[in-house]
Amino acid sequence: MNKTIAIIRGDGIGPEIVGEALGVLDAVAEKFGHAFTYQEAPMGGCAIDAFGVPLPDSSLKTCLDSDSVLLGAVGGPKWDSQPSANRPERGLLKLRSAMGLYTNVRPARMFQDLAAACPLRADIAKRGIDFVVVRELIGGMYFGEHSTFEAGGERKAVDVCAYTEHEVRRVARVAFDMARKRRRRVTSIDKANVLDTSRLWRSTVEEVAREYPDVELLHMYVDNAAMQIVRDPSQFDVIVTENLFGDILSDEASQITGSIGMIPSSSMGEGSRGLYEPIHGSAPDIAGQNRANPIGTILAAAMMLRYSFDMAEEAGTVEAAVDAALKAGLRCGDIMNEGGTLLGCREMGAEIRARI
Ligand code: NAD
Repeated sequence: MNKTIAIIRGDGIGPEIVGEALGVLDAVAEKFGHAFTYQEAPMGGCAIDAFGVPLPDSSLKTCLDSDSVLLGAVGGPKWDSQPSANRPERGLLKLRSAMGLYTNVRPARMFQDLAAACPLRADIAKRGIDFVVVRELIGGMYFGEHSTFEAGGERKAVDVCAYTEHEVRRVARVAFDMARKRRRRVTSIDKANVLDTSRLWRSTVEEVAREYPDVELLHMYVDNAAMQIVRDPSQFDVIVTENLFGDILSDEASQITGSIGMIPSSSMGEGSRGLYEPIHGSAPDIAGQNRANPIGTILAAAMMLRYSFDMAEEAGTVEAAVDAALKAGLRCGDIMNEGGTLLGCREMGAEIRARI
């Protein structure tokens, strides 16, 4: 297969970790006979320096013309004094909206070899953590009307939470499609005992579920879900939920797996094109020192293979190579433990490539 991938290296550790992910993609292309063409798309602080704006039109076009987008991270103290309309993060928001990305997907997977970094009790961690949070990204309370006004002699604030059926339906389909590529179980999380938006959410998800008779659907209230994620995360396969609940639960989910440097994420819209990135930022404190952990970005590239290019075997090969490197005791600084072998970003990338 031939695929064109827009590459946003970004700022801070971005260029270092993206470089290692591209090395892994090259190894996959060679092993499986694919051709990946990389098109550079400067975005973030580096684009402000070179073009005066965080997302130049040429970069946006490169992303929109590509089969998928791989991003390192953007931002850093150098650009903190930029006016808010021209900050590096604005580039990312503009890109998400131009690509119509309405779903964020974040896996919560614990590597057994890093179980010591899991903050849960050993007997819970032992059962394994391997689920995905599918979060609606551009609706709900974050995008409703916000107002603060005087009422009855005091200030009052209102944030409107609204969802339409089609907004729920399209994210539910992403979750069910994803479950078909996993263990075929969707847990839809809402607060249907209190909220109208949640009742609409639940009934719409049930409608969509009828199109997927091979996938099991369960419902859970968000307060219970927050408990279940720490009590027994092994019960989850795919979680689907609205924007606000997803924001909170996906952070909880990534925390229980260990290091921030290990976790990938993707944002999807219509069609197969997505934006793939690690969940962490540009880590300016360790930038340029060969100390960054590239695994989150390498696993983001694996997600791209699985979900945008339908290359499940290739994705599995990358994930297995990461597992094997960890099993061999290889560690970056953020996941270093007693008895491990400390590697830099480049060396970790090379070790994973060698295991493809
Ligand atoms: P951060 O995630 O960059 O760093 C937090 C801590 O985690 C730091 O100590 C860092 O060294 C460490 N860390 C992060 N990734 C690591 C990795 N791969 N390997 C080893 N250690 C790692 O968060 P921050 O310091 O709050 O933000 C720094 C900059 O990144 C800010 O400008 C912020 O706006 C930006 N940011 C960008 C994105 C994005 O591009 N999507 C996301 C979050 C933050």
